[in-house]
Amino acid sequence: MKGPWFAAKCVFRHRGFDPARQVYEERIILIRAKSLDAALKKAEKEAGEYSQQLEKCEYLGYVDVFELFDENIGNKTEIYSSMQTSDLEPEEYLDHFYPEVSENCEAHGQIHRWYKKDELVMGCYHCKTVRKAGMHS
Ligand SMILES: [Zn+2]
Repeated sequence: MKGPWFAAKCVFRHRGFDPARQVYEERIILIRAKSLDAALKKAEKEAGEYSQQLEKCEYLGYVDVFELFDENIGNKTEIYSSMQTSDLEPEEYLDHFYPEVSENCEAHGQIHRWYKKDELVMGCYHCKTVRKAGMHS
């Protein structure tokens, strides 16, 4: 028995994609640990390692750990949940925390910044545009 599963959410800033803009990443990983404290320590250590492996990536020190209810991870396992108390109405809440992603940033004079979605497809960090992998921008 290695203890329960935890999901740990950490926040990172990337400055390597676009000199003019910063990209924030919220990343959730699974951790097995004996206690919540142990999970927190493991999450922070992993976040430090993750950011060091990447260029111009910085761990911002935010960590939230969630203990999973299920011992066996699989189909439909709830891996993360957080409750927020807010005075915002639903539409305001979604606009604030989950703003619409632009359809095409080039339409607003921005430049696409590509990342590999999978073997065949590249996606833009800033908008919904996708293209075939292997093409040049
Ligand atoms: Zn774009």
